[in-house]
Amino acid sequence: MICPKRTSELLDLHLAPFKDKDPAWEVGVSKIAGRGLMATRGIKRGEIILKDMPLLIGLSALEEDSLNACSVCLRELPDTRFMCRVGCGLPVCNLCSKKKQHKTDCDLLKSWGPNEPEVANSVIIRLLCVARALNLNKDQRDLIYCLQANLDNNHRVEVRNAAKLFKNFPTDKKVFEIMNRTVAVLRTNGFDKTTDRTNDNQEFNYRALYPLFAVMNHDCIPNSYYTFEEKTNVMIVRAAVDIPEGFEITTTYTKLFTGNIARHLFLKMKKGFTCKCSRCSDPTEKGAYISGLYCRDMNCSGLVVPEITGLPHPNYNCLECKQKSTHAQMMKSQDFASGAINAKANSNSLRTLVQYLNEKSDNFIPNSNYMVIDAKLSVLQRLGQGREDCSEELAANTRLRYSRDVIQVMDQLGLGDSLVRTQMQELLRREEERRAKRLAEEAEKQRKLAELQAKAAEADQLLAALEEAARVEQEAAAPASTAPAPAPTSAPAATETA
Ligand SMILES: [Zn+2]
Ligand SMILES: [Zn+2]
Ligand SMILES: [Zn+2]
Ligand SMILES: [Zn+2]
Repeated sequence: MICPKRTSELLDLHLAPFKDKDPAWEVGVSKIAGRGLMATRGIKRGEIILKDMPLLIGLSALEEDSLNACSVCLRELPDTRFMCRVGCGLPVCNLCSKKKQHKTDCDLLKSWGPNEPEVANSVIIRLLCVARALNLNKDQRDLIYCLQANLDNNHRVEVRNAAKLFKNFPTDKKVFEIMNRTVAVLRTNGFDKTTDRTNDNQEFNYRALYPLFAVMNHDCIPNSYYTFEEKTNVMIVRAAVDIPEGFEITTTYTKLFTGNIARHLFLKMKKGFTCKCSRCSDPTEKGAYISGLYCRDMNCSGLVVPEITGLPHPNYNCLECKQKSTHAQMMKSQDFASGAINAKANSNSLRTLVQYLNEKSDNFIPNSNYMVIDAKLSVLQRLGQGREDCSEELAANTRLRYSRDVIQVMDQLGLGDSLVRTQMQELLRREEERRAKRLAEEAEKQRKLAELQAKAAEADQLLAALEEAARVEQEAAAPASTAPAPAPTSAPAATETA
């Protein structure tokens, strides 16, 4: 373990642009593993704990069809003529081609002599993040060496493969050593488009190393969460819950909703350690039953959970009938369920998937299982892009129901704030607002209807009164009209008399 004091000094240099006079954290000896970040005072939920900026950043370039992005500003470029005209083999935009950063990258790669500089090659573009370590100053490079690195057999493959794409790739052992070490540190602590290292489902399309963040230890119920500033790629870490003074500030290297066994495997294989947090030590995962499956006994409706935690292939126990099952037996049920859910998810009909999750899937996989939660999150994401073949009502009901479900699981797990929670709360708030508005509109319609009805009734009454009055008048006039008319002969008679 490198001493916390030296790490702090190097971090201070790295963080100079954000120099916080009274930081809420310090590097200290961790109870979880080696070094960690400790709270130097009480930190309130939602408070910004720290900001970090990438020491190294570059394009992930993992997909061959997404190579048309600028290697400096990382922005997407028009599909043609995006390669550097000077022949370094990097994509770069017009503006950035004149910047100092590209000059440095360009000189380095040109000196290696790329075989096909006019063709965008994912291996070269991806290597840039690593190669930039060669141009860091000594303190910055020392900081890289200060960070955890999983020096397994695979970490040398990347540079070895890249070397074949240049005519004069350096043969200096030291250069290889620095790049291989950087690859190992990136793999252990870095961000990469493909890794599962996200507690927030926020898209991060680059490959980057945030040194201060890299010092933070993992907990499956982290007490902090992070976001990125879009323009600068500055990382902002906030408290997910209240953190008392002296407590370790933790983050998560896995997704929030994977079950115990999947998390265990990921952390073991990719990060090289076994998590012993409170969630990992509890087969029920705080009663959230995220890895829960149904009992194989058809007459039992009990939930089955791993017998003990921390094993890749544990036996399972039914919480009701106590029947034991092997890992292989339970994986069969899980695979069946995931196959069925995936088939619906890929069916191109969002409505089919939603109906399946609402009516059918609970027959063979509990709603608490993370596969169901994942499917619901993906439905919400798809609904965010348009409601496909769902009616407006189904979409609204689904948003309301699924965001509540996800929040409930987070509460059960004891998870504090995160980007997922913010997103769910926002969905819920908007949906409830929309619902309240609809109810208000409905009430207003009813009120107007009642008003109209009252007016109609009034008009009816008036009409009836008028009719009545007319009738009375008519009746009053009736005797006069039936009385014998004056004798038409009276006048001639008068004349006669005259
Ligand atoms: Zn650019
Ligand atoms: Zn260039
Ligand atoms: Zn854990
Ligand atoms: Zn049972």
